[in-house]
Amino acid sequence: TESASRPSMSFDGSARRIEDNRRFMPGGVNSNFRLGISPTPLVFERAEGPYLYDVDGNRLIDYYLGMGPMILGHSPAALRKAVHDQIDKGILFAGQSDLETRAAQLVCELVPCAGKMRFGSSGSEVVQAAIRLARASTGRTTILKFEGHYHGWFDNILWSTAPALNAAGPEDSPVPVAGSAGQLPEAAHGVEVLVWNDLAALERRLARGDVAGVIMEAAMCNAGAIHPARGYLEGARAACTRHGTVLIFDEVITGFRLAAGGAQETFGVTPDLATFGKAIANGFPVAAIAGRADLLDLFATGGVVHGGTYNGQCISMAATVATLESLTPDLYAAIDKRGRRLMQGIAASLDRAGIRAVVTGFPGIFHVGFGLEAPARHYRDLTRLDRPAYIAFTTALLRRGVRALERGAWFLSVEHDDAVIDATLAAVDDAAREVA
Ligand code: PLP
Repeated sequence: TESASRPSMSFDGSARRIEDNRRFMPGGVNSNFRLGISPTPLVFERAEGPYLYDVDGNRLIDYYLGMGPMILGHSPAALRKAVHDQIDKGILFAGQSDLETRAAQLVCELVPCAGKMRFGSSGSEVVQAAIRLARASTGRTTILKFEGHYHGWFDNILWSTAPALNAAGPEDSPVPVAGSAGQLPEAAHGVEVLVWNDLAALERRLARGDVAGVIMEAAMCNAGAIHPARGYLEGARAACTRHGTVLIFDEVITGFRLAAGGAQETFGVTPDLATFGKAIANGFPVAAIAGRADLLDLFATGGVVHGGTYNGQCISMAATVATLESLTPDLYAAIDKRGRRLMQGIAASLDRAGIRAVVTGFPGIFHVGFGLEAPARHYRDLTRLDRPAYIAFTTALLRRGVRALERGAWFLSVEHDDAVIDATLAAVDDAAREVA
């Protein structure tokens, strides 16, 4: 097949450029999450459908998909046309446009919790808006978050995203662990950390009646791809309602990916607020906060501040409308079918090669966990992952033309058709035998 016929691609051109880039950019890159990739962070020339084309002339089947956004694949025609049409009409009005109204209407139609919504530019930023609404509406301070869940890189929420267990405290009373040097220690005062998928622990904490908001990835996709335990989301919903706490689903990954209505549609549990980004505009910098109209309306009086120069920017709104209008039932059915086949095929190859691994998650975002014996229930189970072995595997895959994230996540687009899945599985089989 196409990928297996080129078993050892070279990435020397990328490596040279990254080295050269260091003159201008720390680490040669523009995000810490692009550092330290084996054999080198890559430099690309163009992208189309399921493929990336790098500066060494390699064509790679892409399962990063921009870290999640590209559910329609790279450079889809409908999106390109919408953006081309808009760019001649205007870029930024610092005022409203009909496109923005259409985009907002689509979000409110698709997302179960969305009585109203506001646009932003990044997931990190709309998470801040959600936290502020939770505190303003309850008059309380404490935000509960969960180990392994990532909600952006800001001081007040970058706690215990990937804590070392020897620093994280006991499972029944974890302590917040800073995610970055330079983080204000006092920022931890407004946040408490729990182990996810433990309903009794969450209910106990909420019963004290002083929690402003609970924020979680309704399916945990930043570490692993873990389903909520049976009854967990329903229980969290009920307990938040009972104790006057705002329930926030961070759907930056799951939104428009698990289903058009996100994890809240998939699991049938409606939060008070939800945050979106990534797949909402297939690669354009768009994010959204959506939820109960009475909460969102706290922005309307100006009493709770939400701003952003680029909120509702015209090109981004054109991309949002084009993306959301492309999210048909057929698209999810195709991703579902091919994703299941890919998950099963990877599991079978690893099994044949004698590699112990668990493949979990969803057809559109799944996780391959080397070294696990059973699906993880929460972050602490993932500390048993054999990360070096998995990186050897993704490096072997890359040399066969398949680009998958070193942290184990695989994202799928509608452009990954059956032929692409076949080529991927051939490379997987080959790479598995190499690293076993
Ligand atoms: N929330 C979740 C669940 C995410 O996965 C991410 C990014 O990966 C963010 C928030 C932050 O979004 P952004 O990188 O757009 O700021």
